[in-house]
Amino acid sequence: MNSPTGDSGLAGLPAAEARRRLAQDGYNELPSARPRSGLAIALGVVREPMFLLLLAAAAIYLVLGDLREALVLAASVLVMIGITFVQERKTERALEALRELSSPRALVIRGGATQRIAGRELVRGDIVMLKEGDRVPADAIVRSCNDLMADESLLTGESLTVRKRPAVAGDTVAAPGGDDLPYVFSGTLLTQGSGIAEVLATGPRTEIGRIGKALQTLPTEASPIQIETRRAVLIFAAIGLGLCLLVVILYGLLRGDWLQGLLAGVTLAMAILPEEFPVVLTVFLALGALRISRQGVLTRRAPAIEALGATTVLCVDKTGTLTENRMAVRKLDVDGEMLDVDDKTDAHLADRFHDLVIYSVLASEVDPFDPMEKAFHDFGHRTLDHELKQHAAWTIAAEYPLASSLLAHSHLWQTDVHGLYTLAMKGAPETVADLCRLDEAPRRALAKRIDAMAADGLRVLAVARAKLVAEDGSAVAWPTSQRDFDLEFLGLMGLADPVRAGVPAALRECYSAGIRTVMITGDYPGTARAVAGQIGLKNAGDVVTGPELAAMTDAELTARIGSVNIFARVVPEQKLRIVTALKAAGEVVAMTGDGVNDAPALKAAHIGIAMGRRGTDVAREAAALVLIDDDFASIVHAVRLGRRIYDNIQKAMRYILAVHVPTAGIALLPLLFGWPLVLFPVHVVFLEFVIDPACSIAFEAEPAERNVMHRPPRRPDSRLLDGWTVISSLAQGLAVLVAATGLYALVLHEGLAEATARAMVFSAIVLGNVGLILANRSRHRGVLAALLSPNPALWWVTGGALGGLALVLYVPSLAALFRFAPLGATALGASILAAVGGLAVYEMFKRNLPMVRKAQ
Ligand code: ADP
Ligand code: MG
Repeated sequence: MNSPTGDSGLAGLPAAEARRRLAQDGYNELPSARPRSGLAIALGVVREPMFLLLLAAAAIYLVLGDLREALVLAASVLVMIGITFVQERKTERALEALRELSSPRALVIRGGATQRIAGRELVRGDIVMLKEGDRVPADAIVRSCNDLMADESLLTGESLTVRKRPAVAGDTVAAPGGDDLPYVFSGTLLTQGSGIAEVLATGPRTEIGRIGKALQTLPTEASPIQIETRRAVLIFAAIGLGLCLLVVILYGLLRGDWLQGLLAGVTLAMAILPEEFPVVLTVFLALGALRISRQGVLTRRAPAIEALGATTVLCVDKTGTLTENRMAVRKLDVDGEMLDVDDKTDAHLADRFHDLVIYSVLASEVDPFDPMEKAFHDFGHRTLDHELKQHAAWTIAAEYPLASSLLAHSHLWQTDVHGLYTLAMKGAPETVADLCRLDEAPRRALAKRIDAMAADGLRVLAVARAKLVAEDGSAVAWPTSQRDFDLEFLGLMGLADPVRAGVPAALRECYSAGIRTVMITGDYPGTARAVAGQIGLKNAGDVVTGPELAAMTDAELTARIGSVNIFARVVPEQKLRIVTALKAAGEVVAMTGDGVNDAPALKAAHIGIAMGRRGTDVAREAAALVLIDDDFASIVHAVRLGRRIYDNIQKAMRYILAVHVPTAGIALLPLLFGWPLVLFPVHVVFLEFVIDPACSIAFEAEPAERNVMHRPPRRPDSRLLDGWTVISSLAQGLAVLVAATGLYALVLHEGLAEATARAMVFSAIVLGNVGLILANRSRHRGVLAALLSPNPALWWVTGGALGGLALVLYVPSLAALFRFAPLGATALGASILAAVGGLAVYEMFKRNLPMVRKAQ
């Protein structure tokens, strides 16, 4: 019945042997979906409409007998596959890196030391430590266990949990299912207890590997912006298709050349096709998840990234998230006599405190994991090691675990072979006072002293003792509940748990960003209040306790939920009620949690955040995000990044909307006006090669707006592309189109050659594109300010576009392909003027029109 980590007597595999077995057996993982192969990506490209349009255009050129154009378009298909390839690889690598990080961990004993390793590195013979809430990482035989129960429904379909027992000599491996087997199976869930097991089979040799079931395939949910984008693409495509048909028919009827009409239609289709929208989403969300992981937060569900930016309330656990969960004993209290202690307190502890300290250790696990119990051990062994050694022969006969209905934890020690027993109890002071049946007066005096300790932010625990004496030395039947002992109150211990260094600053950032923080804790209200004061939580005097919460009606809770920021002495099950009430009040809620009981709340919250360090697999699987270092400040960093990612997606979308207007317009208008065509498929291909990298590279890398954490959260019902955003983006594109068309009309009127006119108009469009990139970089800064803020990716993209333009204008063979005549300085100047002028007019217009400005 000793602690699982205690004297298990197991040393585990030596590191070298583990390495050898890993090399021999391979990783402990199921052959899952490998990253997409090059061929698969190429096949994916073939199904893209842009590819089909390019092929159609090439085919038309072949029919027209223009082999060169056909070849150029075919070659551009290759370039397009190349770009897609690079993008997919980038996305895939980001996702792979995330998978690597989120691969489940396993606690093993190797070479005599306990260590946490990636579950995929487990080998046959490894000794793994299992506890409630874990997924079993491999098939294993149980060596020792304590109340171990498993849910094996994954393998057996049986929903009842089954009990496990330690193996005895002669056990043979049996199939999963049924009670009292000494085996646990990979992928099944431990619902209760703890144990130590030795790995028998890993990877494809496990039961689950044999039936070839894939584990942990997360449902890929579509997030609101994905749905919105899909709709935008459909609308765009429908309008585009209509226009293309119109062009083909008009061209055929007006100019009598159906093949050229078809070519013009295909060109227009290529110019309108909004294939960048979905690309932007996949790339931005995958790279965004990678960026967020660098801030200590793993993304398990992509929609969470979007929700982060809209978060209005962060509900966080106090212990471990706001504080370090590194406890140290700071105060002792026996019968009202208080003693301040510190890390230097040594063996000169006054006698009257001895029982308190000794029993705080006896009430803790022998080899503790819990920081609080560790603190009791540290303090006890430092001050009273000699006395503790006198208890070395005692053995634990029974353990009474902590329950949310009774905040006390006891060990029943057998003190000699004649059946003498002593109970050592520690727990919440109110609970222990109850169990000791203290009278009214001492209880009131006690409450004062608890409050005094708690006011310093200390966690207060009470310690008690009970003696059981067996009559005539025979074995006693000991009570089944901690309530049934005749307890003696020994005193109070105060433990300090320092606030995490970054928390006060992170909290201030939240407040300036319009985000509320709610502290949730199982701790004493006074302690919670004091910690709240230390970190600067608003309204820190107002506390709702778990019992108060339980007594409230939904209406009463609704009335309080808007202002209360501290919930103390709550049990995990009550988190769900808090989440539900906040959601009903219209908040976007992020909630942290670690235990099995937290899972429902994590699922219900808009963003469930599991603890990476101390969290259970159950909590992780219920959560959308995993906090690697358990630190509150990381959540706030993630929120900031979430806002930036959303901003950047919106900027990219606005740019895509805007940029399609001049491209499509200049493909369409000459037809209507009876002018010579400007754009042929090669031109559109060139523009595509600017647009694609512009949105996926340059906008993704765009730094956060300076006010990103100084503005209220985005409204949850706000749309990525609302009416005004669409209109102002289209207007922006229209400005470039009007300028380019005006330029074209002018030079045609001047009687310039068609090739010169085309080169000028095309240059104006490319320059206008570059202008649109710059204009959409910032919602608040102007183009000039945007020019000055750093974004290396952006300079590559714009540099590439301008360099490319120079090449097609001045390299004779390319110029011939594009049907350009080389431009002189004046002509080039006119193009620049048109592009800059068009955008400048728009900027001025934007500044003076409040409605448009609001949409910016
Ligand atoms: P928190 O929400 O701050 O993590 P917990 O839910 O862990 O708080 O604990 C709530 C209360 O339960 C503690 O304030 C303490 O009184 C009691 N408690 C927690 N762990 C133990 C333990 N190992 N032994 C005795 N009492 C405990
Ligand atoms: Mg806790």
